[in-house]
Amino acid sequence: MKVLVNGEIINRSEAKVDIEDRGYQFGDGVYEVVNIYEGIPFTLKEHIARLYRSANEIGIQLSEQPEQLCNRLMELIEANNMTNGGLYLQISRGVSNRSHHYDQTLTPQLVAYPLPFKNVSDAQAKGVEAITAEDLRWLRCDIKSLNLLYNIMVKQKASEAGAFESILIRDGIVTEGSSSNIFIIKDGILLTHPANNLILNGITRTKLLEIMDANGWDYKIQPFQKEDLMKADEVFLTSTTSEVMPIIKVDGVTFSQAKPGPFTRKFQTAFREVVKAETKTTTEKA
Ligand code: PMP
Repeated sequence: MKVLVNGEIINRSEAKVDIEDRGYQFGDGVYEVVNIYEGIPFTLKEHIARLYRSANEIGIQLSEQPEQLCNRLMELIEANNMTNGGLYLQISRGVSNRSHHYDQTLTPQLVAYPLPFKNVSDAQAKGVEAITAEDLRWLRCDIKSLNLLYNIMVKQKASEAGAFESILIRDGIVTEGSSSNIFIIKDGILLTHPANNLILNGITRTKLLEIMDANGWDYKIQPFQKEDLMKADEVFLTSTTSEVMPIIKVDGVTFSQAKPGPFTRKFQTAFREVVKAETKTTTEKA
């Protein structure tokens, strides 16, 4: 496998992390995961824009322009002959003697490499289960930080309960999933949490809302309660790797006769069509 380390594409075996990298010591950095369809990264520009935003929010300045980084990532995809899978990319603040405060002159460390293809089509067709958990994260969930401790704690809880995701509840309000955004449908209207500091504004979430706009489908960006979730007609999550994933059971309560509902299906299909259209060039080449 070829990996991108600070602008250079090298073999995986040659890539090294300094033990005093602040990403390693403090989780002091930001990251992205991009999906690759038939060799084409989906919504790459949007992911890179969010990466720069996250970096900027924590005071990491990148010397490379977003376009340059996109070009290097395209080279990385090519160097690995990638067809389907993901691209993981992270930036840490840099390497220095361990202390909480940092020197502004540190050089950010960037690594990127392919992630294996995860087949979610069966789960997308059947729907998945979720559990709820208290949202005990910090109040800057809009930053895609390397610090994922609480997210992994609740994801593990879900996994041990045989569920796919933990849906997080803060002060009675459904915020998002441990690694996804949450949507409910009640009486034909889609509801999702506003993109503020309490959630990560998913690229998939944004794309789906654009699709809703383009089709003239109604939705409301508004917080909703756990009771609304439990009484919803349909529930689904979105994320880069799961796209539009129906949730058919939450804390043992089933939705839409334990199968993906008609609205979720419609959004799933519309989303897939956009993915297909935007990754068409290579599909035609192949
Ligand atoms: N919220 C959280 C906490 C996440 O980790 C993710 C996945 N990165 C998402 C939402 C969904 O974001 P996206 O659609 O950009 O993958």
